[in-house]
Amino acid sequence: MTEPRFHGPDFAALEASDPEIAGIVLDELDRQRGGLQLIASENLTSPAGLAAQGSVLTNKYAEGYPGARYYGGCEVVDRAETIAIERAKALFGADHVNVQPHSGASANLAVYAAFAQPGDSVLAMSLPHGGHLTHGATVNFSGRWFTAVPYHVRKDTELIDYDEVRELALVHRPRIIVAGATAYSRELDFAAFRAIADEVGAILWVDAAHFIGLVAGKAIPSPVPYADVVSATTHKVLRGPRGGMLMCRAEHARAVDKAVFPFGQGGPMMHTIAAKAVAFGEAQTESYARYAAQVVANARTLSTSLVDAGMRAVSGGTDTHLILFDLQHLRIDGRTAEARCAAAGITLNKNAIPFDPAPPAVASGIRVGSAAVTTQGFDAEDMNAVGSLVARAVRAEAGTADGDRELAAVKDEVTTLVARKPAYPVI
Ligand code: PLP
Repeated sequence: MTEPRFHGPDFAALEASDPEIAGIVLDELDRQRGGLQLIASENLTSPAGLAAQGSVLTNKYAEGYPGARYYGGCEVVDRAETIAIERAKALFGADHVNVQPHSGASANLAVYAAFAQPGDSVLAMSLPHGGHLTHGATVNFSGRWFTAVPYHVRKDTELIDYDEVRELALVHRPRIIVAGATAYSRELDFAAFRAIADEVGAILWVDAAHFIGLVAGKAIPSPVPYADVVSATTHKVLRGPRGGMLMCRAEHARAVDKAVFPFGQGGPMMHTIAAKAVAFGEAQTESYARYAAQVVANARTLSTSLVDAGMRAVSGGTDTHLILFDLQHLRIDGRTAEARCAAAGITLNKNAIPFDPAPPAVASGIRVGSAAVTTQGFDAEDMNAVGSLVARAVRAEAGTADGDRELAAVKDEVTTLVARKPAYPVI
């Protein structure tokens, strides 16, 4: 039986005027629904959010902020941005919120612009240990314009080495200390970061891009009471539109707003801001809090299941929505594992692990996340099934008769599993 296909706002108009692009949208929906989506930074935005984003609000130029725009006719979109800001303030208890950043990277650019000058030093998690490109990678503006000082995880525990963070802070006296990462599965000790920042007079910036959705659902502690500024994305666990946001203490509000517009961006995307408001509204509900708790429970179940299947969870497990697995003792590299899973209808990514001997394009690990499958309604039993399917796919030697047969068998089981709890079931 084929599921009904998604018809978004005015989708018929798209099909009539541009069947090529309409077909791509439907093919992508089929891809998302047809396999297991385990990319830790992805989720399934609600139909309500999709509708807001695919709306006529895209037509409006609104440089500036609500009540103080450089264009006329902003009185309607002002309402959307004000609601987005008020909902986010209520959700996170933040003094000030800016919902205009186009993405997580744009939000991060604004943090540098608000708090540092080119050449200043910034203490952040090393990229190979889980940090993000915008935390000082040489290929990124952050590494080119600022002096990045990387901190690491400890080799024995694979947890952030807070002693090293403090030592480096005392030596380098950074302008900014960054807490937050892209491939770190554990809760962060915000109080420890705050104490170190206070000791050296640094700004504490928490990049909550990955986990802000868990904070919204009260599944993990909030960085907001500790940080001078928090940057985040709205499209990961938070399940909103692709975009960024910033929260800060009242004293930094003006600097942060000016760093977003006019420093880093022009007109805000009002359709996306409306969709952010929808996501914040959804995140205020009891059902979202249950979702966030289930995301963490599901990640733990998946972690246990893959450890039972012979993989090693970096740092021994997870407190969040993501888990990093080291495949070295299986003698399978991350790139190979990713390709085998893809052949079985399982989408995940290869990932460097701390102290990885392999180059990043090969990597010794994989990163998996539970946000999207939890949106589909997966529970512990489903996650155990997911774990067993991932483990079988990773071990199946593609290119051999046995391996290809096994990958085909796993793919069949993936199809059956996702058909029971499909993405976008009602549309
Ligand atoms: N910061 C962190 C920690 C991230 O993990 C990411 C994206 O994965 C970003 C920033 C950038 O977000 P975006 O891809 O929206 O620019």
